[in-house]
Amino acid sequence: MKKSIPVTRSSLPPFEEYCAEIQSLWDSRILTNQGEKHRKLEEELASLTGAKNLILFTNGHLALEYAIEAMGLKGEIITTPYTFASTTQAIVRCGCTPVFCDIDPVNFTLDPAKIEALITPQTVAILPVHVYGNICDVEAIKALADRYRLKVIYDAAHAIGERYKGQGSGSFGDASMFSFHATKVFHTIEGGGLAFPDDSLREKINAMKNFGQINPETLPYLGGNGKMSEFQAAMGLCNLRYLDENIRRRKVAALRYLRNLSGIPGLGLSFSDNRVEYNYAYFPVIFDGFKWDRDAVFDRFTREGITPRKYFYPLTSSFAAYQGRFPIGETPIAKRIADTVLTLPLYAELENEDVDRICELIVTA
Ligand SMILES: *Cc1c(COP(=O)(O)O)cnc(C)c1O
Repeated sequence: MKKSIPVTRSSLPPFEEYCAEIQSLWDSRILTNQGEKHRKLEEELASLTGAKNLILFTNGHLALEYAIEAMGLKGEIITTPYTFASTTQAIVRCGCTPVFCDIDPVNFTLDPAKIEALITPQTVAILPVHVYGNICDVEAIKALADRYRLKVIYDAAHAIGERYKGQGSGSFGDASMFSFHATKVFHTIEGGGLAFPDDSLREKINAMKNFGQINPETLPYLGGNGKMSEFQAAMGLCNLRYLDENIRRRKVAALRYLRNLSGIPGLGLSFSDNRVEYNYAYFPVIFDGFKWDRDAVFDRFTREGITPRKYFYPLTSSFAAYQGRFPIGETPIAKRIADTVLTLPLYAELENEDVDRICELIVTA
């Protein structure tokens, strides 16, 4: 029986370390609602991401929805269909209209040259995604947003711990959403964070994620429950101590993949932008013009007990949930990438021999 290899494997701190981290909660009995662990994690993550403000949420998706609501956005939001369901679902659930823009064929993020033609009097914001940790063209997007007075909210779910031209990944646009889901490079089991520069939003967003209350008798905002618990925050504090080491180990695996797979006709590989300090969150490979198509490679892996992921497939613009309701722009590049991509297994504990076995399967296909 050959060893099976999952596409990802959640990192965990030593069991005793987590127990020690949560022990004080048995004395304080403060288990949630902005306790001590929560405050500490917010500070550490603001510093890591270069954010002026960072607010924690019980997951990344809600952070995105609260960002859209806190900025009072109503209208069209230009975004990418090449993303996880969450990005588009957040826009739609907040009552806005997604307008789908095509992506760059090399780093898979929103193509700024194609945004302007989609701007209408109803456009209120741009919502790009730092796909796989590839940082968007933040300068071009800012120039457009300034010119047309649009808000920019980044889906930075994949970009924790990264820098672009030396600046933290939480320092761009009007807000950046991070996901701390169990499968991400850094996690709080479930969790998320919203980074933003505007201090005046701080009280509002903190109140909104706590039922709209500033205090039990003062409720100036519509709100719900988006709070992160102390147990989640404690997991984050522990995991943060291992983040650098995890990224270092991911990098070793990613570079080994790159070495093994470079120069093979029909394979598209990533990590080529030397302005980005990557976190090696994913290892996407584009099978375009390769001797086998993506689905054939996927099946071959599956038979061998290896689980790659068609990530992202299908495009969010094709979800049945939206059928006929939104303008589905021409996004041929996004379509082609979605039809040819596989993300290969990548996590800190992935061993060299696993990487070699996976590459062997491709090379000898
Ligand atoms: C994981 C992810 C989200 C959602 O984050 P959760 O913390 O799971 O709610 C949103 N967008 C992208 C691109 C993601 O990968």
